[in-house]
Amino acid sequence: MRGYKAILGAVALGLGVLASSANAQEYPTKPITMIVPFAAGGPTDTVARSIAAAMQDYLKQTVVVENVGGAGGTIGVARGARAPADGYTITMHHIGMSTAPTLYRKLSFDPLKDFEYIGLVADVPMTMIARADFPPKDLKEFLSYVKENHKKLTYANAGVGAASHLCGLLFMSAIGVDFITVPYKGTGPAMNDLLGGQVDFMCDQTTNTTSQIKAGKVKAYAVTTPQRLANFPDLPTLQEGGLKDFEVTVWHGLYAPKGTPKPVMDKLVKALQHALQDPTVKQRFNDLGTAPVPLERGTPEALRAHLEAEINKWRPIIQAAGTYAD
Ligand code: ASP
Repeated sequence: MRGYKAILGAVALGLGVLASSANAQEYPTKPITMIVPFAAGGPTDTVARSIAAAMQDYLKQTVVVENVGGAGGTIGVARGARAPADGYTITMHHIGMSTAPTLYRKLSFDPLKDFEYIGLVADVPMTMIARADFPPKDLKEFLSYVKENHKKLTYANAGVGAASHLCGLLFMSAIGVDFITVPYKGTGPAMNDLLGGQVDFMCDQTTNTTSQIKAGKVKAYAVTTPQRLANFPDLPTLQEGGLKDFEVTVWHGLYAPKGTPKPVMDKLVKALQHALQDPTVKQRFNDLGTAPVPLERGTPEALRAHLEAEINKWRPIIQAAGTYAD
């Protein structure tokens, strides 16, 4: 009797495997969710929505962006790690994927163990901006004003490990003072408060700041890249302001839960590669001061290798700064 049951079990298991590989071949047969671990309307959301629209054309299925903000992106990424490994939930995250393992004492996911890697997406520069009526006229005045008034100035960010937080940390250490930080679920809502004058300044990606800078709704003082940006030729770099070696560029990657079947992964990688070449994506990214990565970086191998290198790069920097979160 036990033998009979075992055979039945084995047959059922075999049928299950066959069914799931048939499902993987047919994938996708229903809408896909792309988790963005920050609030709607911010820079990660903007990148994700462009890529999702182009992937959706390729996959012939809706790709819905779901914003799960909080704790520098770690809440949304944890949700993405625990989602069923069937290709129907994927996650977009940025450089914060590489800093979270060192910054957070307790992290419920492991970036190197809990994911399959779809590919890199874009490298986005940042800008140092302030509310429109912030007194300093240029970068030189901005740097001395922040140093003199740091005890009363408020700096908006998207939580520990967000790019806006990392840029703020580097900036504090470069100018040798700290200021009051105000965390949001994303820099989309932070930007609303900056526009309303409730916070003083912020370092955020061009994908969120370009239109506000161009419309004169915020004051821009500098870019975080070593070279000036084509979209803002008049904005100096922080290095020109005397902050030696200051550089932050925010890389983004696309992830699926560990164990997602290979045929599904192959389709997701092809869909990303399609999106990276899509003329609408290229134009939109270009207008926002960035570009899709070249195709050879939009691969699982490139993302895995970059993530690992970045975890190793940031670990000693964060340990030296001694900044941790629970
Ligand atoms: N990615 C942004 C940051 O790291 C937050 C956001 O997308 O809203 O600051």
